[in-house]
Amino acid sequence: MAMQNIATPGIILKRTEYGEADRILTIYTRELGKISAIAKGSRKSTSRKSGHLEVGNIINFEFVTGKDLYIMTVAKTETYYDYKDLIVMRKLFLWLEIIDKIIHDSERNLNIYEVIIKGLSSINAQGTYSRLAIYELELYSTSGYQLEVQKCVVGREELVETNNFIDIRLGGIVCKNHNRGEICINISASGIKLLRLIQECDINMLERIKLDDNLVIELDKVAKLQRYEIIGNKMKVEL
Ligand SMILES: [Zn+2]
Repeated sequence: MAMQNIATPGIILKRTEYGEADRILTIYTRELGKISAIAKGSRKSTSRKSGHLEVGNIINFEFVTGKDLYIMTVAKTETYYDYKDLIVMRKLFLWLEIIDKIIHDSERNLNIYEVIIKGLSSINAQGTYSRLAIYELELYSTSGYQLEVQKCVVGREELVETNNFIDIRLGGIVCKNHNRGEICINISASGIKLLRLIQECDINMLERIKLDDNLVIELDKVAKLQRYEIIGNKMKVEL
């Protein structure tokens, strides 16, 4: 079979040392989805490729198809983020780890690619409020873990404005009457509105949603609960 040449942007999720001088990269690419690729000689300090292979940047790659892995031939950084701040670094590692754990297959999925990119730019955005929780929830929703946020997940009745909870085990919002008080958190009316928007809106609209401190705290809690439910205790990075 002839070797195929593929060009695609992507984000390195993980780097593993391999042999004397090589690295195996786990990359989420726009054209191929999640792949593993070998970067030969990338650990030699003289390698022209090594400077580009940082996690969390958007890189234009070229690969050829190998026997088991893609073989990286070119890597040029398209968007370089300057991760100086320790909190920002931790957020980045958390985000990349979530993506790595949630996404298993290597099918092309432009929605997921977009969510990853938006998450990265939200980590790097200067501003008071972190929007990463929005993209984390969007990632779960897009990957088949959609919460029921329209109706009470137990009684299926319409929700009233107040006294609602998120029950992650049950998979969505539960009203006061049906709440059994297991792993639950309060969710406000604006929290519910926002969870609905995350599921319904085009991803580019999510950037414009106005957030305040309380909403950010609420969303963070929901995202964290969902993370534990889906990924469990296998996370290395905590925030
Ligand atoms: Zn109910």
